[in-house]
Amino acid sequence: METVIVLLNRDLRVHDHPALAEACSRARAVVPLFVVDLAIRGRHRAGFLAEALDDLRSSLRDRGGDLVVRYGDPVAEAVRLAGELPAEAIWASADVSAFARRRERRLAEACAVRRLDFRLFPGLTIVPPGELMPIGGDHYRVFTPYWRAWSATRHRPVLEAPSLVTLPEGIDPGTPPVPTSPPYGDLRGGETVARRRLELWTKLCLADYAEGHDALAEDQTSMLSPYLRFGCVSPSEVAARAGDHPGAEDFVRQLCWRDFFYQVALAFPDLPRRDYRPRRTGWNDDEDAAEAWRQGMTGVPIVDAGMRQLQALGWMHNRARMIVGSFLTKRLNIHWRVGGEHFAELLLDGDIPSNWGNWQWVAGTGNDTRPNRVLNPLRQARRFDADGTYVRRYVPELAALPAPLIHEPWRASPPVPGYPAPLVPYWTMDR
Ligand SMILES: Cc1cc2nc3c(=O)[nH]c(=O)nc-3n(C[C@H](O)[C@H](O)[C@H](O)COP(=O)(O)OP(=O)(O)OC[C@H]3O[C@@H](n4cnc5c(N)ncnc54)[C@H](O)[C@@H]3O)c2cc1C
Repeated sequence: METVIVLLNRDLRVHDHPALAEACSRARAVVPLFVVDLAIRGRHRAGFLAEALDDLRSSLRDRGGDLVVRYGDPVAEAVRLAGELPAEAIWASADVSAFARRRERRLAEACAVRRLDFRLFPGLTIVPPGELMPIGGDHYRVFTPYWRAWSATRHRPVLEAPSLVTLPEGIDPGTPPVPTSPPYGDLRGGETVARRRLELWTKLCLADYAEGHDALAEDQTSMLSPYLRFGCVSPSEVAARAGDHPGAEDFVRQLCWRDFFYQVALAFPDLPRRDYRPRRTGWNDDEDAAEAWRQGMTGVPIVDAGMRQLQALGWMHNRARMIVGSFLTKRLNIHWRVGGEHFAELLLDGDIPSNWGNWQWVAGTGNDTRPNRVLNPLRQARRFDADGTYVRRYVPELAALPAPLIHEPWRASPPVPGYPAPLVPYWTMDR
């Protein structure tokens, strides 16, 4: 083959990239193309994406190639470039959301009309969504049987990065977007940072993961989710690297949750819009309460700490996501879509299957086998933030309170200036 365009999207890496690896081994010239969609949501994500593109460009240049950047509609730009070069093929990594699948269908049609070879490759998940099916069903609805089948199946081997990427002569590489928003926490975008984080974290922290991953203040989890979201590192490589270390099973199980929600989203494209299992009605349409929740001003310290961590970092600890999600949907009775929209706006790792799958799980309309469970925020706080370090870090108004009061400021006398009374009666929270 003479020239192949690899249309990149959520696979911004050179290592373990099946479409790129195949193009580099089969074609004389390869065009790694990224089309910037100016409508990308979320102030955090635009900066992270720009850093990831910058890093990818350096890696491709180190291999003799470049990242080719265009602006506009990915289908129109890819097809136009294929005509200009000319290229014989457009290849990409398969995605699952309804939006992504519409784009894939449009691209397939446009390629068919122009007699271009169009192919989709794996790489966004460890086991391709749709590959595992229970007897008599089109996808797994419950996690544990999925985990069993997932663990028993052979996983795709991890691929090396191509050593050489040859661009067609004379192509204008274009200009990637410049990072405009400030970095949040230490979460800088890009494959280089992702690989360093993976290596250090598996070496230094993985062994304590099973014990410590729920401790809110300890930062014991990998914080790899934004890198997985943008494909700066492949989930297969994360699982393979982790698998070599003691104590990996609990961690690999979390990666399987990610795969699980991808196969749910593929089978149920309405996941962001409609109850997966229609179990609940009678939602409370209280915009003031929703806004207090978004701002981290509910008067419940563990909820407010989580919501403010999200604002500060563009990331929130998983245990906090469960607490704030349960509080919104089960105590305030506010629809899961309100929570999911806010997360989608602010989370660096915000992606359709994991965000909406988890929101529906938390709200009791999704894949939870105990849909009526309501997390008790006080008990959760005492258990996972026993000395209040997490609350003190993100809710500075409460920092001076002694440990016994930090999770129950309503018992402080006088009341803490500037901190609200709880949105729900405090005695109902201890149940
Ligand atoms: C209401 C709610 C919304 C969420 N929204 C998202 C989202 O938009 N994007 C997202 O990636 N995760 C989401 N999660 C899942 C989880 O909270 C994050 O993946 C995790 O906190 C990321 O931190 P980490 O990388 O340190 O995780 P680790 O504990 O180090 O786990 C490793 C990886 O496993 C995957 N993972 C872990 N837990 C889950 C889970 N419950 N579901 C799916 N994948 C998981 C992630 O890719 C994560 O990076 C959500 C959870 C809840 C309760």
